[in-house]
Amino acid sequence: MTGEARRQELSENLRAVRERLTAACLKAGRDPTEITLIAVTKTYPATDVVDLASLGVLDVGENRDQEASGKAAEVALAGPDVRWHFVGQLQRNKCRSVVSYAEMVHSVDGVRLAGALDEAASRRRQRPLDVLVQVNLDGDAARGGAVVGSTDVDRDLDRVLAAVAGSDSLVARGLMTVAPLGWDPDRAFVMFAELAQRVRREYPDASVLSAGMSGDVESAINHGATHVRMGTSLLGNRPKLM
Ligand SMILES: *Cc1c(COP(=O)(O)O)cnc(C)c1O
Repeated sequence: MTGEARRQELSENLRAVRERLTAACLKAGRDPTEITLIAVTKTYPATDVVDLASLGVLDVGENRDQEASGKAAEVALAGPDVRWHFVGQLQRNKCRSVVSYAEMVHSVDGVRLAGALDEAASRRRQRPLDVLVQVNLDGDAARGGAVVGSTDVDRDLDRVLAAVAGSDSLVARGLMTVAPLGWDPDRAFVMFAELAQRVRREYPDASVLSAGMSGDVESAINHGATHVRMGTSLLGNRPKLM
């Protein structure tokens, strides 16, 4: 495919995604300008990010530092000033790299991880790093996310929130989740919204709800998502083995 054909394809996909978001907002009685669309560009090249930026999508998500750091550098060289969101499971030894390009980290799910990210952010940045605490709604330990009332003190949601709130260089902006496999998304996002409401009573500035992907964005918007993370619908099906 030529560069121009790909840009055309991305433009058409974006138009369809925007229509979906607008329709979902209309149905939920919400204002579409409340929703931040994050293009999750994992497995896709920097040229796609540049094209999407030229089409007005300036929020970009990645889930692996190894891939994201090089891509962020390539995009910076090409010109557009995009905001990188780190949405994947994060290892403590990657924090220094991630804070060098990410504006927001959606996947803080441990007390020790919060500590490592705080330390990295304090070294490399002039201003605090925005973070979301990722919530695991079904307690499946193999997947990411802090758990409500966990007996594992590192992964307990309240402790992770307290660690972020008590840090010097991180700001708790809200919560992120991925609907558990096999769940009805409405069930997941109702639970998530209730949790977010409770968290906001203690942390009034934690108002971001990062929820909704290509398969369940309508439900997420219906239940209050402010940031939606769309990969497949915008960029196409990813190769299976990545
Ligand atoms: C890949 C990914 C997405 C986007 O998923 P799609 O189903 O392709 O829209 C959203 N959030 C996270 C955390 C992801 O890893």
